[in-house]
Amino acid sequence: MGINAGSIGMRTVLAAVAMLMHVWLCGSAWAAESASARHAEVSGDQYRTTFRLDLSAGVTAEIYTLANPYRVIVDLPDVAFNLPEGTGQEAHGLVRTFRYGLFAERKARVVLDTTGPVRIERAAMTAIPDGKGIAFAFDMVTTDPASFGMGTGAGKSGVPPEEKPPAAPQEPEKPKTSGKPAIMIDPGHGGIDGGAVSVSNLLEKDVVLAVAKELGRQLTASGRYDVHMTRESDVFVSLDQRLNLSTKRSVDLFISLHADSLSEQHGAQVVRGATVYTLSERASDEQARRMAEKENASDLIAGINVVDGEGDDEVKSILFDLMNRETANFSADFSNVLIRKLKPATALAREPQRAAAFKVLKQSHAPSVLIELGYLSNPEDEKLLGSPAWRKKIAGSITAAVDAYFAKRTAGSPGP
Ligand SMILES: [Zn+2]
Repeated sequence: MGINAGSIGMRTVLAAVAMLMHVWLCGSAWAAESASARHAEVSGDQYRTTFRLDLSAGVTAEIYTLANPYRVIVDLPDVAFNLPEGTGQEAHGLVRTFRYGLFAERKARVVLDTTGPVRIERAAMTAIPDGKGIAFAFDMVTTDPASFGMGTGAGKSGVPPEEKPPAAPQEPEKPKTSGKPAIMIDPGHGGIDGGAVSVSNLLEKDVVLAVAKELGRQLTASGRYDVHMTRESDVFVSLDQRLNLSTKRSVDLFISLHADSLSEQHGAQVVRGATVYTLSERASDEQARRMAEKENASDLIAGINVVDGEGDDEVKSILFDLMNRETANFSADFSNVLIRKLKPATALAREPQRAAAFKVLKQSHAPSVLIELGYLSNPEDEKLLGSPAWRKKIAGSITAAVDAYFAKRTAGSPGP
């Protein structure tokens, strides 16, 4: 449906929801369900900063603010972001950085990290002359934490329903094939959460999805397993959703795939190799602790309001379950066999087996590991991570580890 730029009439509704300030921009009845964004820009100064996104068509947008840390969230329908690489990386005015991408199927999101509490003003969609689409823009102005809190409820109450991402794209129900072990492959990040970035803009979310798909192919081809994935496309899936999928499928093994990145001062040039992480309440070392902190921040990055302390009890009880040791022992077994199988295929980190409190590994029913395939910050690792041949090889090693692990478990089980 074509949009007649001359007929654009926007209405802006300010709805003061208990927790959040919502600004709704409705492109009236003809608002497109999908659009593409070709340009994004931040302008202004540290008192009033404007965010502008040029779209191919008018859409319905929802803008709200979050605290801890201070962010502005813009929810959009299906927007394809055709923006130049590196867009959003530079600080300007009240905006530190911003990122964009799919938050769920047919739901896009922009998250702007701000330097402090801001209020949204003058949000509008206006026609760009000569039929060049729609400019969606709003201003952010500084406000003090107290009025930010009053307007947005950035306080202690619960997470508003809007903060739960819509249901993740889920694979169709597959009947459980008799007797085959079920494996959940979990490619980290996705959509708006790009994960780590290499010097040449290789994104962790893309690397791990490619390896996950290859691993899925190889495991499926063996005919020995029921294979599931937490995501099969470039879409955000929250950590809770990943855990829920694993529980729902009652999988026998959970493999989370990631790729790390270090800053220059932490040895970006020299530190390389794969690391296998298992769950532990106490991190094995400082680097492992930092790693878990980084990976656990995925929900924050995607603009989910993570309330401090929320779910702590649940997490603790799951950890307590793990103290029963069986699942933890199986995770350790799998980690050991993984290291053996990975060694001939790729470089391993100096201490390749570590442990930390990764939220996505907090599963009481399934042995789980998180594999950091390598370092996107290291030039040699980056070359490997980007190579289809290497991806095939590493997926082969993980498949061999899965085979060895289940062969041992079957052999070791008391039998009927
Ligand atoms: Zn990651």
